Amino acid sequence: MPIVKHTYDAKLHREGTVGRRGSCSWHGEKACSEQPTSSYETPNGMMAACPRAERQIEDLYSTSASGRTRVARSDIHE
Ligand SMILES: [Zn+2]
Repeated sequence: MPIVKHTYDAKLHREGTVGRRGSCSWHGEKACSEQPTSSYETPNGMMAACPRAERQIEDLYSTSASGRTRVARSDIHE
């Protein structure tokens, strides 16, 4: 499943979401007090990810049969 990684930006997250409030939406704001460092477009929607979540998301979505990474890095925000 392809995912797209962005540098974290609250504006990428919909109004009223955890990511928009500046919290980690992968772990949830109650379970995780870390600041998100990346925003991921995943098949399940936009996820704000702390460094720990980044590794989990990339493990979950970027593995393919060939072992090739499918993470596309966006340069829009750089
Ligand atoms: Zn987290």
